Amino acid sequence: MKIIDVIVRDIRFPTSKDNIGTDSLHIDCDYSATYVTILTDDNNLSGVGLTFTIGKGNDLCCKSIDYFKDFIINREIDELEKNLLFIWYQVTDHSQLRWVGPNKGVVHLAAAAFFNAIWDLISKYYNKPLWKYVLDLQPEELLKKVSFSYINDVITEDEAIEIIKEKKKIIPNNLDVLESTIFPAYTTAAGWLGYSDEKMKKLANEYLQKGWTHFKMKVGQDIERDIHRCDIIRNVIGNENILMVDSNQIWSVKDSIENINELKKYNILFFEEPTSTDDILGFRKIKDAHPGEKLATGEMIQNKILFKQFIENNSLDFSQIDSCRLASLNEIIPVLLMSSKFDIPVIPHAGGVGLCEYVQHINIINKFLFSNNTFFLCEYADSCSEHFENPAQIINGSYVTPTKPGYSVKIKDNSLNKFDYNTGVYWN
Ligand SMILES: [Mg+2]
Repeated sequence: MKIIDVIVRDIRFPTSKDNIGTDSLHIDCDYSATYVTILTDDNNLSGVGLTFTIGKGNDLCCKSIDYFKDFIINREIDELEKNLLFIWYQVTDHSQLRWVGPNKGVVHLAAAAFFNAIWDLISKYYNKPLWKYVLDLQPEELLKKVSFSYINDVITEDEAIEIIKEKKKIIPNNLDVLESTIFPAYTTAAGWLGYSDEKMKKLANEYLQKGWTHFKMKVGQDIERDIHRCDIIRNVIGNENILMVDSNQIWSVKDSIENINELKKYNILFFEEPTSTDDILGFRKIKDAHPGEKLATGEMIQNKILFKQFIENNSLDFSQIDSCRLASLNEIIPVLLMSSKFDIPVIPHAGGVGLCEYVQHINIINKFLFSNNTFFLCEYADSCSEHFENPAQIINGSYVTPTKPGYSVKIKDNSLNKFDYNTGVYWN
């Protein structure tokens, strides 16, 4: 079976109308996807992948995909699977394109969409959900597909093999047990910064009634308002439920230290992205100033090299990998392995478009192949789930394990046709 074409579409949903996704720095998000389809000479088999953006610039990611297509067109799927890491380097280390990266920014987000589509295609070729395809690979075969470039001073392939082999000894061999795994989640959807007090109260109450026990709220407007919002949400969810806050990088290191001091009385599980996503030493200063508090970051950590530094420098307590910012599993798996070695819980970033559909696979892979930590949690927000053919399912505040073949991000044809930014009726 051979790849015959790669199609890319600029899909944008007008979520800014309802203030969905609003935080201290992103005030008008139109949740968008660079949507890639890999066509094969079998009409019944195609690979679908996306990266998530929030509106303008999605066209730049789409354009970048044009530069990658020739690396896979006319290749057999077996050959693609065998040469996956080689192709990953052709894209991420492209001798001209790397000047506008490397391993970061628009081209790296585009690489995520492209390789997410390739992993989807390969797992569908084997008729398995992505997580099952990965779990079934021999450790050596899996590691041939992932990149250890620039990180083998912190983790070697030999150490990685050991981690996986130990975990494989205790993996349930009954498929029913794996498929019935539920994975605990928290919701972000009650506390977007653009929501009124009333709307936040109402939504927090509704989520509580649906069985949610973990809530995250946006902060970072002004500290008095943040305190007021923490009061409101604690009043609704009580002290028995878990609260986290996210300031999306708006504070300086100094502001972060002062503001965490004001908010820590609300018993916060973690403070997310207090300051710049690139400030590894700054995060450490904040942690040193508040040894009793925990920091989370990762949705904008642009590659595995920065993750390496955050982890090795003890600058984060929870790694929040993003399935569309790191360049797909080829780069995510090494971060999961480093997190395992340093015993850092991984709490994937989700919401947006397709991120919940992606992380439901990554959670299962991490739980059964890599992590020895006993704390498991993942973000969830149901924005845009109505557009997916098989959206992530939640029961009582936990993810249900997906069982259909592939990586789960096929968007319904009528949604694609309506919200295509170039040709869709909504935008034209
Ligand atoms: Mg966040």
